[in-house]
Amino acid sequence: MDISTLSQFDKLFHDMQKKQDWKDALDVLFLSMRNSFVFDNVAVYLEELQSRGLDVIYARAKGRGKTAEADAAWGEGMANEVISSGRMVLKGPGRGGRGSDRMKQTHLIGFPLLIGSRIRGALLFVRFGGPDYSNLHVHIAALQAFWTAALIERKELQEARAELDSVQRQMRLQDDFVSTISHELRTPLGFIKGYSTSLLRQDTTWDNATQREFLNIIDEEADRLTKLIEDMLESARLQSRTLQFKFSPIRLDSLLRDVATRVHTHHPRLMIDFHLETLPPVSGDGVRLSQVFENLFSNAIKYAPDAPITISTHAFDKKVQISFADKGEGIPEDYLPFLFERFYRVPGERTVTGTGLGLYICKQIVMAHHGKIWVESVLDKGTTFFIELPAEPTL
Ligand code: ADP
Repeated sequence: MDISTLSQFDKLFHDMQKKQDWKDALDVLFLSMRNSFVFDNVAVYLEELQSRGLDVIYARAKGRGKTAEADAAWGEGMANEVISSGRMVLKGPGRGGRGSDRMKQTHLIGFPLLIGSRIRGALLFVRFGGPDYSNLHVHIAALQAFWTAALIERKELQEARAELDSVQRQMRLQDDFVSTISHELRTPLGFIKGYSTSLLRQDTTWDNATQREFLNIIDEEADRLTKLIEDMLESARLQSRTLQFKFSPIRLDSLLRDVATRVHTHHPRLMIDFHLETLPPVSGDGVRLSQVFENLFSNAIKYAPDAPITISTHAFDKKVQISFADKGEGIPEDYLPFLFERFYRVPGERTVTGTGLGLYICKQIVMAHHGKIWVESVLDKGTTFFIELPAEPTL
């Protein structure tokens, strides 16, 4: 091997390393060697773990027959042959294919992909109209198969690590949740017990106004407790997918106004700006969708107190979009990706009570409607939650 080949490899390694996405790295790999190894189509087949069928996980058309890119089924039989034999397979056009139509003269070469300790896939090249693969071509293609397997393995390890991180985070959140929830349960119970004990004391008499005040506190705290328990049950049902939804055509603009009116009776000082377009109906569960909006109101009230809320709706492309914007302190960008996880609460000094269940419940409900929910936030400017639902009944 001479120095110029080595420096080419060196450059290739660096270029591939720079690509985060394994498919981009594969593009670099195949392109870099095209001077020495010309092919028309390339495809990577990988065994699907559950069904054991083959999936095309990468396909490119570089030369003739470019339209064949999407149709990577051309090599399925060959890929199966490569995987079951565990060896390189070479196939020329055979007698019938040696006519004048180059597209019928397929030269195929396939290599098994050893991923982990098992052959789980195949890398296939096709060349239309020859020439036959030379020894050099076979070596280059073999090298590319080796790299392809390494890249797939790297990708799978990255995915496994991300999953592990998420499970670990979930376990940490669960631990925090136990302490949060015991605090959240004890606080209202403490009030209820304290004020009812006071009312029951034989040695003291309370005037009517004080009695009412105490009873009001007991009433509100009992509501808080009920909401907390409902949220816990709801999130458990959503997680186990046993929550029932009752779908019917819903007019979101009027649903939003109803929820806002209810919220307003409890928070008369709250300013709500509406920018409502007339929306097409969605197929939804009105009770559950109200719950989503109530949660967003309740968060805006908790985390952006004394600031107005702007609710906008917009219909486009058979979709309906609703946004809830507050003018609160906002949420640091690093925390945004976790906001909809079960039990997640933004870390830091806490004066506001909560369990980290609200946004999880919102997301699960929106997803059950085949919709999306996401958040955008700018520090010191405010936070906006967006919900998108399909306008046409798809359920
Ligand atoms: P909880 O309010 O019970 O903590 P949620 O799931 O409703 O749980 O919200 C998760 C976290 O997201 C909250 O702890 C809070 O830090 C943050 N958050 C939610 N809504 C807002 C908002 N409008 N402004 C700022 N932070 C918010």
